[in-house]
Amino acid sequence: MIVVRTIAELRAALAPRRNGTIGFVPTMGALHEGHATLLRAARAADDAVVMSIFVNPTQFNEQADLAAYPRTEAADLALAEAEGMDVVFAPDIAEMYPAGFATTVSVTGPIAETLEGAERGRGHFDGVATVVTKLLLAALPDRAYFGAKDAQQVAVIRRFVADLGLPVEIVVCPTSRDADGLARSSRNTRLSAEERTRALAIPRALEAVKDAAAEGVAHTGALRARAVAKLEAAGIRSEYLAFVDPETFAPAAVVEGPVLVAIAARVGTTRLIDNIVIGGA
Ligand code: AMP
Repeated sequence: MIVVRTIAELRAALAPRRNGTIGFVPTMGALHEGHATLLRAARAADDAVVMSIFVNPTQFNEQADLAAYPRTEAADLALAEAEGMDVVFAPDIAEMYPAGFATTVSVTGPIAETLEGAERGRGHFDGVATVVTKLLLAALPDRAYFGAKDAQQVAVIRRFVADLGLPVEIVVCPTSRDADGLARSSRNTRLSAEERTRALAIPRALEAVKDAAAEGVAHTGALRARAVAKLEAAGIRSEYLAFVDPETFAPAAVVEGPVLVAIAARVGTTRLIDNIVIGGA
């Protein structure tokens, strides 16, 4: 496995591998089993696999969150090697944002402006879209792998990849969960034992919605009430608990086709997100 720090080195490392397919997994490091599922999907499908580690400052709306974001590069490189990565791209901030940097890739409309976009501010998805565009142009992979856990991020990425005509296939991998149902996240390490137990109300709320929908409850207002009850029982008030079209993020009043149920909530000071899709074809 080769570790490179510059875009020039990345291109040089990938040049001899372009006779086969290249799979790319962008990450912010602090890798866990959820990331590993993406690495395995790439390893299984592509001839060469590259992972990036870059904690992108422009997508953080809170300086404290950026400062507290876990950084575990040595362990991340060991996991990348164990999962068979060929190349790891781990640039510093100046490599990604050289002096005078003045370009933003910005998706407009509900996909980027509601839910995470509303809570974290316009800059969040601008930061994501800009850095992912740069990473895709640096690696020029055949496929890039993202997690369904960040459903709105996936929708934003699909939108700008289509709009800009970037020649890459976006592959979405299912949310990886701990045995008790909590969605794996780098932020989970910040939860106390008591907070972690309370956080389980988030996947349980989503399960309650899924069960009620399966029983025939179609109005999202009624489904929402089931989820709120689970969250409130654990003393959790959501930042949002939304039922939307998974592609456009338009609100869904009734479950007629696939509906994304997305939750963001703080447990203690830690902000967690999770989602499921119900009503799928
Ligand atoms: P991050 O390092 O948090 O930016 O995540 C890097 C990639 O891993 C993103 O595409 C995430 O959606 C994905 N990811 C993070 N956690 C999970 C999870 N629990 N299950 C599936 N994918 C995940």
